[in-house]
Amino acid sequence: LLTVSHLNKSYGKKPVLHDINLEVEKASVTVLLGPSGSGKSTLIRCLNGLEDFQSGQIDFMDQTIKPGFKKWQPIRQHIGMVFQSYDLFPNRTVLDNILLGPLKVQKRDKHEATEQAMQLLKEVQLADYANVYPRQLSGGQKQRIAIVRALALKPEFMLFDEVTASLDPEMVRGVLEVMLQLAHQKMTMLVVTHEMNFAQQIADQVLFLEAGKIVEASSGQTFFTQPKTERAQEFLNSMA
Ligand code: ATP
Ligand code: MG
Repeated sequence: LLTVSHLNKSYGKKPVLHDINLEVEKASVTVLLGPSGSGKSTLIRCLNGLEDFQSGQIDFMDQTIKPGFKKWQPIRQHIGMVFQSYDLFPNRTVLDNILLGPLKVQKRDKHEATEQAMQLLKEVQLADYANVYPRQLSGGQKQRIAIVRALALKPEFMLFDEVTASLDPEMVRGVLEVMLQLAHQKMTMLVVTHEMNFAQQIADQVLFLEAGKIVEASSGQTFFTQPKTERAQEFLNSMA
């Protein structure tokens, strides 16, 4: 579904990603791990056009994306993204937040989009919250709504950047459950997380990034039980 070849990215003169090569297969879960500042968020942002890059290319679905690419709009409709901070519109209800993209951007039928939104809310155990405002929700609930809002656009590919990082511990589980459920439904996902048990549970593939380089790429099982590099071993020890 997605191939990145020889991607390099710098901010000004500061190189941040070096010769990134990776492949994400349809219906698989890739977990991106690495120390703070290693470039995980930057890589994710390159994959949906929030950041440009200097060289290399991204192949997604049947598009080839090179530096300076301008036609992200149609591609982004296939890529859902959820960040650490849930940016729900405070003055709109949960349902209106979810329907904004499907109705305004995708021009879908209101009845159909509403039915789908209600079904998704049910799947994340929030069907009773359709008409409340974001301020009435807990952090975990807001994050589940942010996931539903991304899913409402029927993406082919979902990007998650530390979606539980700012949640109270008791809220984390519910959000991770939703992601596990999505993996089970064969959604293609790229996930940055610091929850190692969850990472081990969900990963088909693990990419370990350090100082902007992928220093290890393994299957989920291999990475957690027999990391090949010393750096990955140290990282896992530090997270345990
Ligand atoms: P964390 O785990 O803390 O979220 P990360 O792996 O996501 O870290 P990035 O946010 O991708 O790391 O940052 C990679 C490097 O790029 C860091 O050195 C950071 O300081 C730098 N960087 C990130 N965003 C910018 C920016 N907009 N301008 C300049 N430098 C940036
Ligand atoms: Mg980050």
